[in-house]
Amino acid sequence: MRGAIARVTGEGFRGIYHHRDSYPSSLGKTLWDTYQKVGDLETILDCLIDQHPGGWSSLEGAARCYCHRDWDKGDSEGWEVNQSNASRLGVEWVYAFDVPNNTMLVIRSFNPSGAKVIGAFGLGNPDALWSVVATIDLKGIEPDWKSIEEIEED
Ligand SMILES: [Zn+2]
Repeated sequence: MRGAIARVTGEGFRGIYHHRDSYPSSLGKTLWDTYQKVGDLETILDCLIDQHPGGWSSLEGAARCYCHRDWDKGDSEGWEVNQSNASRLGVEWVYAFDVPNNTMLVIRSFNPSGAKVIGAFGLGNPDALWSVVATIDLKGIEPDWKSIEEIEED
């Protein structure tokens, strides 16, 4: 399941691509745990976004990025993900950080019809809408990640 790790911007969000295991119970929890360990949001975002503009195959297990792989000199120029191109990239889950407020917004794509977007066919849906399904206070209580996954649009 494709996702993105991003910063909240005036227009929406801007960050980098995350290819596998991007569900709240996997990537969302990993980001939460990272904050609990490191404690400084800018340090984390600099490491995850700014230093790896090519994005990540996955942060789970042995984290692998696309920009520093020695098995294939990938595109180190970066692959920015934002609210305009994310659904074309098949991104369904976005974790957008609001640094001043110390929160993580969980943003999910929905088809205008309300049907769930299927990103597995490669192209995603350029008409998908984005909904903030959770705003998580990083200094608060750990949320129930599974229940966030199950939120559906009305
Ligand atoms: Zn890298």
